[in-house]
Amino acid sequence: MSKLHKVYVKSFGCQMNVYDSDRMADTLAPAGYAETARPDDADLVILNTCNIREKAVDKLYSEIGRIRELKEAAEAQGRRMTIAVAGCVAQAEGKEIIRRAGAVDLVVGSQNYHRLPGLVARVLAGEKIVDTEFPLEDKFDALAAPTREAIYRRGISAFVTVQEGCDKFCTFCVVPYTRGAEISRPVEKIAADVERLAEAGVREVTLIGQNVNAYHGPGPDGRPWTLGRLLRRLAKVPGIARLRYMTSHPRDMDDDLIAAHDDLPALMPYVHLPVQSGSDRMLAAMNRRHTRKDYLDVVARLRATRSDLAFSSDFIVGFPGETEDDFNDTLALVDEVGFAGAYTFIYSPRPGTPAAEMGGQVPQVEATSRLYRLQALITRQQRTFNASFVGRSVDVLLEKPGKLPGQLVGKTPYLQTVQVMAPRTLIGQVLPMCITDIGTNTLFGTLAEETGAPALAAAGA
Ligand code: SAM
Ligand code: SF4
Repeated sequence: MSKLHKVYVKSFGCQMNVYDSDRMADTLAPAGYAETARPDDADLVILNTCNIREKAVDKLYSEIGRIRELKEAAEAQGRRMTIAVAGCVAQAEGKEIIRRAGAVDLVVGSQNYHRLPGLVARVLAGEKIVDTEFPLEDKFDALAAPTREAIYRRGISAFVTVQEGCDKFCTFCVVPYTRGAEISRPVEKIAADVERLAEAGVREVTLIGQNVNAYHGPGPDGRPWTLGRLLRRLAKVPGIARLRYMTSHPRDMDDDLIAAHDDLPALMPYVHLPVQSGSDRMLAAMNRRHTRKDYLDVVARLRATRSDLAFSSDFIVGFPGETEDDFNDTLALVDEVGFAGAYTFIYSPRPGTPAAEMGGQVPQVEATSRLYRLQALITRQQRTFNASFVGRSVDVLLEKPGKLPGQLVGKTPYLQTVQVMAPRTLIGQVLPMCITDIGTNTLFGTLAEETGAPALAAAGA
């Protein structure tokens, strides 16, 4: 029997990258690679990079430095270790990575990682390889499916890519350059993935894509389906209790998707809808192709459909030319919407994007001050949102054992983490919990039957 190799995949960045890392491991499994959580133990180390924000390149080289030491230690013991760099920094930097860091054996772009088994075999035969050309074949067709064991190990909540790339070209963003043009996967292939996950015990699926609600993949009828229609199809898969999607663009929030929030109980009432700025001037400079009013209208239409809907968002402060008035428009928008959470970023110029060439770059100290003020407002809103659950009953999907003996950890429809004392046999079930207290990032609950707490109105919650 051939020796089993070990692969360690380190993910940087967002959920899309975590998903890609899992698919890299899946694709290497038939070639005899088992996943390990220890880089020192690995025969193949893959650094799956993200360059959405600042210092991605610096972070990569310092990580390569650490792995190089492990590689030297392995070689001193007569063991070979291959280092691969994948993902968006690999796509953007290409052969520069091998030039700067000779310990790297393989650079593989974000659209090419389905070729990993063949590429690794060539490296083992003595080549150094850079593979970043966008391929003609469909990566998703070539990727191996996860094994039941891998699905089980990753837990009862899974991600499925339905859409990739972006044609929107926001002036600050590298995604259209590193992930390429927008593509949507066919409905039946996504449904087959979700069925396989459900059969292995997955209860919650989050559909992911850089611009997920622009989804327009071919349905079984050969016509393009919307994301709303896809969600309706997936809600029929036995065993799937919860569906989510991210990340959405306000412009692509169509009537069908909004209606799905009304008529699909499995679709969770929590929408991640990045706005970036509350200033029309900044939105235009960012080429977001929507106004502040357009955004507020989408929020209002969604809330009219489901009153218990909550929102999270992404914000960029310190975009070139942003004045204090522009920033105040952002604070006012946050006040008006009321968010359950948000990701906040200081603008960082990404090489090759139009905004990197714009005048009026905001001084770091000013941008940092805006970031803190925005974060303080959002944190207050998040605490108020979380506190509103105390004394009420909310449906919790129990996901895994907690840190304490006898404790389980689960998620509300709003992705809040809940800790509860409950038997392990309940993992995978959605059960009503009474929320008794809140911590910084966690809610504490008890099984609702024990308390008879009032249910959250129509919350699927
Ligand atoms: N497609 C989503 C949208 O339309 O908003 C966002 C995807 S992007 C991968 C995730 C987030 O990273 C963005 O929403 C933005 O807030 C942030 N981001 C992207 N480029 C950035 C930059 N150059 N500087 C700071 N933040 C950035
Ligand atoms: Fe980037 Fe999102 Fe804009 Fe596309 S829509 S360019 S992914 S920020």
